[in-house]
Amino acid sequence: MRAIVVGAGIGGLAATLSLRRAGCEVTLLERTPRFTEIGAGIQLAPNATRVLRRLGLLDTVAARAARPAGLSFRTWSDGAEICRYALGPEAEDAFGAPYLQVHRADLHQALAATVPSHSVRLDTEVVGIDQDDRSAYVTTAHGERLGADLVVAADGVRSAARRWLFGADEAVFSGTAAYRALLPAAEVADLDLPDYAGWLGPDRHVVHYWVRRGELLNLVAVFRTQAPAQESWTAQAEPGEQLREFAGWDRRVRTALERAGRVFRYGIHTRTPLARWNTGRVTLLGDSAHAMTPFQAQGAAQALMDAAVLGDTLADTTPAEVPDALTRYVRRRLATATSVQAGSASAGDVYHLPDGPEAEARNAGMRALATVNRFGPHATTWGDDDVLDAEARADEKTSGSP
Ligand SMILES: Cc1cc2nc3c(=O)[nH]c(=O)nc-3n(C[C@H](O)[C@H](O)[C@H](O)COP(=O)(O)OP(=O)(O)OC[C@H]3O[C@@H](n4cnc5c(N)ncnc54)[C@H](O)[C@@H]3O)c2cc1C
Repeated sequence: MRAIVVGAGIGGLAATLSLRRAGCEVTLLERTPRFTEIGAGIQLAPNATRVLRRLGLLDTVAARAARPAGLSFRTWSDGAEICRYALGPEAEDAFGAPYLQVHRADLHQALAATVPSHSVRLDTEVVGIDQDDRSAYVTTAHGERLGADLVVAADGVRSAARRWLFGADEAVFSGTAAYRALLPAAEVADLDLPDYAGWLGPDRHVVHYWVRRGELLNLVAVFRTQAPAQESWTAQAEPGEQLREFAGWDRRVRTALERAGRVFRYGIHTRTPLARWNTGRVTLLGDSAHAMTPFQAQGAAQALMDAAVLGDTLADTTPAEVPDALTRYVRRRLATATSVQAGSASAGDVYHLPDGPEAEARNAGMRALATVNRFGPHATTWGDDDVLDAEARADEKTSGSP
């Protein structure tokens, strides 16, 4: 089985690895001249780390990660704790894998190191995808036309493949943007910050956590804005802009934002849910299929799950069966990913409630939830059956049981 994967982000790299493990010969095409993952921190909930274990990468990624004991939600103005959810060993026991917080580059490098150099073509932009009954084809900006039994378009939130497959449809600005920064631990040591916290305020929230085993603090400050900010990991905010936006916030948050210096400003974009991601021998995967707001920290996790299920579905499949296999892959993933997209959008609305009765009711609800669900509201997505089922079947196959 020959596959072409378009895009070497977290989704495309994981798909490449997963397909190779399923016995496919994979060519990975990436438009940038070298593997790059900029950005800052990324959280890997147990549904993501279970996939990493399946791909043989959990130990490598965990060695450079931070492991939070819990998540402390706080109020924006005085830092009073609203509630605390558990994420340490109890979560690992409950979900069968740890909750990790990592530098994106560490995750990206761990995935990229598994792709043999003969399988990847960098500096290769795909400018078209088409297919006939027997093969799918990509056209590159160099003028080549490459064929395979299937094409996986993991070309991110700005996906052009999605337009080629399903017609006009652009990334949608979410009305929110994020300031992002990484600070050395020594620069914030005096602030006595919780290991992992979400500070909630009107039209804004701030999240921070450690990466690189506690060497760096990852800081994300989200705010509503009508200005459709650029979706770019490298666009910088104006000097001091973040302090004006978060004026009046708890001193520790303001001080961390001030010490961050010139921060990055990232416009958050999403994609409208689709009724299907595949057509014939071509499918979308990751953000191209279901880009979501990051308010449940699930975008990459869902991309990893796509990759795991895709590999599982393609194992033992003949080239003639590819269209049916892709339909099975989408059937197993679409409902979950679409519901996480919706959940992420509404999490933002809840985080950003104005002060007063609505925020008080939210806080009371979060406190009540913590007494019945120790892991918090987003944990409902961490035990997803589609990947667990896949794992169970893979185990059965290895052990030879029926
Ligand atoms: C502020 C923020 C915080 C986040 N935090 C988390 C988190 O904590 N946990 C989590 O799970 N998720 C998080 N996410 C989401 C996560 O970053 C994305 O869901 C994930 O990176 C998507 O991976 P991808 O491979 O689908 O797309 P991308 O990473 O965008 O990769 C797409 C790749 O395709 C390449 N490409 C594009 N077009 C072409 C073409 N025509 N030809 C060849 N190559 C092409 C690009 O160069 C790129 O390398 C966050 C997102 C944001 C914005």
